[in-house]
Amino acid sequence: MLKIKDYKVAVEGQEILKGINLEIKPGEVHCIMGPNGAGKTTLVNSLMGHPKYKIVDGEVSMDEQDLLSMQVFERACNGLFLAFQYPNEVSGVSMLNFLLAAYNSQMKARDSAFKPLKAFKFKRMIEPLLKDLDIDADFLDRYVNHGFSGGEKKKSEVLQLKLFSPKYALLDETDSGLDVDALAIVSKGINSLKSDNIGILIVTHYQRILDYVKPDFVHVLKDGKIVQSGGAEFALELEQKGYNWIS
Ligand code: ADP
Ligand code: MG
Repeated sequence: MLKIKDYKVAVEGQEILKGINLEIKPGEVHCIMGPNGAGKTTLVNSLMGHPKYKIVDGEVSMDEQDLLSMQVFERACNGLFLAFQYPNEVSGVSMLNFLLAAYNSQMKARDSAFKPLKAFKFKRMIEPLLKDLDIDADFLDRYVNHGFSGGEKKKSEVLQLKLFSPKYALLDETDSGLDVDALAIVSKGINSLKSDNIGILIVTHYQRILDYVKPDFVHVLKDGKIVQSGGAEFALELEQKGYNWIS
């Protein structure tokens, strides 16, 4: 399980997360909602090891291993995945080279007998995934996220999620900026991964993705703390009432 205990995080000298407690077990889907600036992105980015965030206090373990002492690549190789709210553009690196390098190194780290795939074989392997996500064929030749539309960036994150088969997936507003059709496709991609072997944390602003991906737990993050939790129906209540009544 991914176990977060009394977790406090600062950005630019200001404490944003003020003691988060959360346990995500394989097979569970958790959802974090909350007002803008509550610290949702701070939570998931810092768990992945983004250097901008300073861990002030607390403990985080992933399958009994200390997550916070791992390098970013070790977190990924051990099965943690983050879909960015705002994916970066990387000029000069093709999607194909990026995905292939990441895939080969993660699979190798998890199984020393794994033989790195060559580009042509890898391409054949991911073609059905591109089709499932309704991604254009020229996608692999483009630079990473370069000139992608909002929807294409989000689909690219979900493609990586499917490809790397993580044990714990943190999805930061993967539904934002998607039209209804793209939302359905992206949700189908997330649902296709749901199993007893993966724990999923969905960060979202809107209840609508939860019509497609049903959460087991819904938490409200406000002022750096989880102030209330409930089941799937709690998200509907939040959509109607907003966050102001919760403290
Ligand atoms: P959310 O994802 O819930 O909207 P964030 O985690 O992005 O919230 O932001 C939480 C708080 O941290 C906000 O007040 C934001 O201004 C602040 N913050 C985030 N990143 C930075 C940064 N690089 N520099 C200064 N403040 C930041
Ligand atoms: Mg955010």
